[in-house]
Amino acid sequence: MRYYIDLFGCAKNQVDAETMMVFLGNTGWEKTEEADDADLIIVNSCGFIESAKRESINAVLGWRRFYPQKKILLAGCLAQRYAAELSQSLPEADLLFGNTDLEKIGEAVSRLMHTEENAASLRSGFSGGGSSPGFVPPVEGSGLCRPGKRPLLSFPGSAYVKISEGCNNRCSFCAIPLIRGSLKCRSIPDITGECRELLDRDIKEFCLIGQDLGSFTAAGAGLPALLEKLSDLPGDFWVRLLYIHPDHFPVKILDLMERDPRFLPYFDIPFQHASAGILQSMNRRGNADAYLELVDSIRTRLPAAVIRSTFLLGFPGESEKDFETLLRFQEKAELDWLGCFTWSREEDTPAFSMKGRVAKKLALERKRITGERQIPITEKRMDRFVGQELTVLVEEALEGGGEDLYLGRSYAQAPEVDGAMVISTGKTLRNGSFVRGRVYSRAGFDLEIRV
Ligand code: SF4
Repeated sequence: MRYYIDLFGCAKNQVDAETMMVFLGNTGWEKTEEADDADLIIVNSCGFIESAKRESINAVLGWRRFYPQKKILLAGCLAQRYAAELSQSLPEADLLFGNTDLEKIGEAVSRLMHTEENAASLRSGFSGGGSSPGFVPPVEGSGLCRPGKRPLLSFPGSAYVKISEGCNNRCSFCAIPLIRGSLKCRSIPDITGECRELLDRDIKEFCLIGQDLGSFTAAGAGLPALLEKLSDLPGDFWVRLLYIHPDHFPVKILDLMERDPRFLPYFDIPFQHASAGILQSMNRRGNADAYLELVDSIRTRLPAAVIRSTFLLGFPGESEKDFETLLRFQEKAELDWLGCFTWSREEDTPAFSMKGRVAKKLALERKRITGERQIPITEKRMDRFVGQELTVLVEEALEGGGEDLYLGRSYAQAPEVDGAMVISTGKTLRNGSFVRGRVYSRAGFDLEIRV
């Protein structure tokens, strides 16, 4: 039996898909790259904000239209968050499968494939321990299982390593705790063990992920202790930290980054806003001065630091003055990379019923302004690399002219979200390997390097 998987959402969802693939493989399932050849289509959905939810639902509808006879399983965050509603309103999906008890995927699909019942009766018959049909609710300690050697869906040489699941921060706009539950962390030996195995598979880059790495705690030890243990591993590799909440940034990690260049001075710190009032309604504690101080202290300790962030525009109560505060912060902080989003009104989050809603049109206009103002800032930040020698992780070959061209990433570029390195070379390069060269120009947000 073969399955095809359609992936949506973030890196955490990708790791869940990789984990499910192991359990499916253990129960005799084979992955196919062609939906046409599949007996089962899995849509691994995202349920974070409105646009992402729509995209995942449209995928189910599209697959159903295309393949009226094939079985379709809706997995991931959307299924987790809206199991009860979707089991009634989305008959196009034959089964809903939450994202906490991934080891039950084999059981779920074999039940799905060996029944002639229609979707609704199948769903109502699948218990999985959940209160809603076909749905497994959040369970403390679950969602972090590591079933051994998992297939990797990342770019060559790179792997996401999920060190925690869920979140206790309770930002008022965020649906993640509703979907993924409270914070649960893996043990340090479990994480270092996984990284050791990945090194044996010639992985060069570990992207540590969680909702907020700064909250990581295992047996009384925090993120700095985990990184110290990882630094005991021998070999030539990178550790990239993705997403650290600015209100409890563990400054101690900078000590290790100063000592060990394998821990990349790349920081993904989602500030979301800079106005103290808005941050307070977001259930965050910061303000523009505190956040500027954090940016400055990182750059003073690590002048090579690259900082990415996200801004959330149009949060309830955001006045013109709040927006100006954010723009001033943007100008002073000179962040290397920035993603701008508008607020999505999510059921069951505290912000859902907040007063002072900002018109969608105005929120979009503010997003456009911040996005436009970021372009010269990012370009200027990238210009500093021209003339520098950098290490690049090769990702793929490009069809080029006279020279061989490849795409890759330096420490300044995280997978999928930032610009890329365009590599010119006279040699054949291996995808997933490190090469060194000199940056000779910038093209848009990308850097051009010769090796
Ligand atoms: S820290 Fe991130 S994941 Fe956690 S509640 Fe806030 S926005 Fe959501």
